[in-house]
Amino acid sequence: ATYDFAGKTILITGGAGDIGKATAHRFAANGAGVALWDLNETKMVDVARELAEYNVPVATFGCDVTTSEDVAKAFAGAVEQLGRIDYVFNNAGYQGLFAKTDEYPEDDFQKVIDINVVGVFHVLKAAAQHMRESGGGAIVNTASYAGVVGPPNMVAYAASKFAVVGMTQTAAKDLAPYGIRVNALSPALIGPGMMWTRQTELQASVGSQYFDSNPKVVEQQMIDSVPMRRLGSLEEVANGVAFLMSEEASYITGFNLEITGG
Ligand code: NAD
Repeated sequence: ATYDFAGKTILITGGAGDIGKATAHRFAANGAGVALWDLNETKMVDVARELAEYNVPVATFGCDVTTSEDVAKAFAGAVEQLGRIDYVFNNAGYQGLFAKTDEYPEDDFQKVIDINVVGVFHVLKAAAQHMRESGGGAIVNTASYAGVVGPPNMVAYAASKFAVVGMTQTAAKDLAPYGIRVNALSPALIGPGMMWTRQTELQASVGSQYFDSNPKVVEQQMIDSVPMRRLGSLEEVANGVAFLMSEEASYITGFNLEITGG
């Protein structure tokens, strides 16, 4: 479906990444102004350049979501450049290392929680404060199917994404009185993309009973676990974001939309 986002604005964190970029294209194509946030400024500027074809306002902000000062500054900048923010796609994330729970490095566990939980909270809070003043809006937090069923060798990532689903449910309740809807999105196997390549290679390298040691075989093992027997595309994830932000979803809040192929 095509939604009319003309005159609306969306802020996308992780805007230089695969899902952020696909979502930026989807919203800009449907008329929305776009603010991109990312740590990776070079890639982000490339995405912004691509968006020029849609003739909508586009702004970029180098921002580390783990730092609340960065988030406050980038939020003020986005509001200044785009007027107001109607939608926030709270999407920056880190997949973590792959290791069995008894071997998982503590510093990487902390890093995953800092980005995927604390970072998501910072953006959620800033968005809520803005939308409380501006009269409402919609927020989508990127969780993961790993926030529904814990996959092997991803103890930090699973913990972080279960947390995102929990924050979404509480925030939906807390923010409903302000006309702010908060939903989560949980993709499973999406590709081609960075996370797909990385997870097949790293799952193969762990040497667990769940996956082969050859990444090509792991790819097939993973696809065979999907009832629809294929990966989801980045566009299919962006479609979910568009639906949850749109007026079609006006009575949907606190929901976790699984995009998993079954
Ligand atoms: P990606 O790695 O291409 O994009 C993630 C982006 O987040 C990167 O551009 C990175 O620079 C940015 N980022 C990381 N830490 C940051 C920080 N502290 N501050 C600001 N930006 C930061 O991956 P993606 O596939 O586009 O992932 C987007 C989201 O989707 C993530 O939350 C991820 O966990 C989730 N997800 C992805 C998949 C998948 O298969 N691709 C599946 C389920 C969930």
